[in-house]
Amino acid sequence: MKMFLAGEWVDRAQTIDVRDPFDDSLVDTVPAATPEDVETALAAAAAATVTARRLNTFERSQILLKAAAWVNERLEEFATTIAREGSKTIREARKEARRCVNTLTISGEEAKRLVGETILFDSFPGGEARKGYFERMPIGVVLAITPFNDPLNLVAHKLGPAIAAGNAVILKPATVTPLSALKLTEAFLAAGLPRDVLQCLTGYGAVLGDRLVSDPRVRMVSFTGGVEAGLRITARAGLKKIGMELGSNSPVIVWKDADLDWAAESCVSGAFWAAGQNCIGVQRIYVQRSVYAPFRDRFVEITRKYRIGNKLDEACDMGPMITEGEAKRTARWIAEAVELGATVACGGRRTGALLEPTVLENVPREATIHHEEVFGPTVNLYPVATLDEAIAEANSVNFGLHAACFTRDVDTAHRLAAGLECGGVMINDSTDYRLDSMPFGGIKNSGLGREGIRFSLQEMTEPKVVCWYLREPEQE
Ligand code: NAP
Repeated sequence: MKMFLAGEWVDRAQTIDVRDPFDDSLVDTVPAATPEDVETALAAAAAATVTARRLNTFERSQILLKAAAWVNERLEEFATTIAREGSKTIREARKEARRCVNTLTISGEEAKRLVGETILFDSFPGGEARKGYFERMPIGVVLAITPFNDPLNLVAHKLGPAIAAGNAVILKPATVTPLSALKLTEAFLAAGLPRDVLQCLTGYGAVLGDRLVSDPRVRMVSFTGGVEAGLRITARAGLKKIGMELGSNSPVIVWKDADLDWAAESCVSGAFWAAGQNCIGVQRIYVQRSVYAPFRDRFVEITRKYRIGNKLDEACDMGPMITEGEAKRTARWIAEAVELGATVACGGRRTGALLEPTVLENVPREATIHHEEVFGPTVNLYPVATLDEAIAEANSVNFGLHAACFTRDVDTAHRLAAGLECGGVMINDSTDYRLDSMPFGGIKNSGLGREGIRFSLQEMTEPKVVCWYLREPEQE
C-alpha cells in the first residue's frame, strides 16, 4: 500500500515489508517515510488546521458516522487485514473491527456534545455587568502514534476524537502493522474528510519520531505504546500536550466466594487474548489460599485445551507473538523465573513466534516476569491469605491500568475497588474488559491522561473564554 502524505497517496524508493508473523509470508509493503516527508507532513498539517477547524459540527459528525458505516460494510476485509499483519486470530480480529465501528460511531455522536458552559462573572466583586461563556476550540495539529497490538481500533481511538474536535492529524502507525491504519485512512477519505486533514505516515519511529514529536507545530502528541518510547517522547515533546497510554502488569484477585469456573474461564481469555499482547491482559492472579488448588486446576485444564497456530483458521484460539524475537524474549523471561524457583504448570514451549500459553506458579518477586510488563502469553498464579495482603501484592508493581476481582461478597468487592491503585477495577470480569466510551488510562508507569472518546475530546481541545462587558447606556 502507499502512504497518505499531504493529500496524496505516495510511494517511496525504500519500502518496508509487512509480514505475517505466523509463517513470515509477505502480506504487503509500505513506504519508509524519510525525514523530508516529516517536514512535508508537518507543513501540510499546519496548513490543514484551517480546513479542519472550519468543518462544522454536523459535517464532522457525518464524516465520522459515514466512516463507521464504511468500515461496517467491510468488516471481514478489515478483520482479515488485522489477522494477517498482526497477532490476532480471525475471531479476535472480527471483534476489533466491530469495536472500531463503535469507536467511530461514538466519535460521531460525541462531536455533537462538545460544549462549553456559561460563566457567572458576577459571582465575585469586580465582575458585575459582565456575562460570558467558554467554548472548546480545536487544539490544532494532533500527532497520533499507535502500537501493533490493536492496529485498527486504537487508531480509531485517536482519529475519531481528533476529527470530532476539528483538528488536523498526522498518524504514525506501528511499523509492523501499518495496513489497518492505511485502510482506516481510506475509510475517512471515502466518508468525505477533506484530503488535507488526515495524513498517515508509514516508517520507523526511531527515524521519524524525534522530528515529529519535538516540532512546535504539533500541539498534542497522543501516544499509545511502551514505557520506553513513551518516556523518550515525553522528554522531547517540549511545550505541548501529551497523552500517554502505556503498558501494564495487571493483577486479578480471586476470592473464596467467587464463581471459580467463571473466574478461571474469564482469566484464561484475559491472559491469552492476542497471545497476551494486550495492555490490559491478565498477568498476575492472587487466589485466596483455600480455593487456590481448585482454581489452579480449572485454569490449567482450560488453558491446555487452547488451540494455537494459524490465525486464519476459525478454530484457532491463539496465534503467534508479533515476532519471533518477542517470543524468544518472553521465553527467556520464563526461563529466568524457573531458574529463580518458579514452576511451569503448563505450556512454556516455543516454535518460531508461537509460544504456548503458559501458567507459572511459585514465581519469586525478583523475577522480571513478576514485576515488569510481560506482553506475552504467560500468567503467574499466587496464593494469598488476606484481602490486605492481596491488595498490597496487587499494588506492588510500578503500573496501574486495570485490576480485577472475583467475589460474590459486596463488602469484599467494595474494599478491593477502593484499595486497588489503577485506572479501572473490573468486578467479576477479568482486567481485559473495556467499553470504548468509558474513561480509559492508567496511573504510575501506565500513563498520563485518559482516552474514551468524551475524555479524549477534552484532551484534544482547549477552552476559550468569551467575556462581554455590558456597560450601562449613557444617559441621553
Ligand atoms: P512501542 O514499541 O512503544 O511502539 C509504539 C509506537 O511508537 C510505534 O508506532 C513505534 O514505531 C513508535 N515509536 C517507537 N519509538 C518512537 C520514538 N522514539 N518516537 C516516536 N515514536 C516512536 O510499542 P508496541 O510494541 O508497538 O506496543 C506495545 C506496547 O503498547 C505495550 O507496552 C502495551 O502495553 C502498550 N499499549 C498500551 C495501550 C493503552 O491503551 N494503555 C494499548 C495498547 C498497547 P515503530 O513501530 O516504527 O517502532
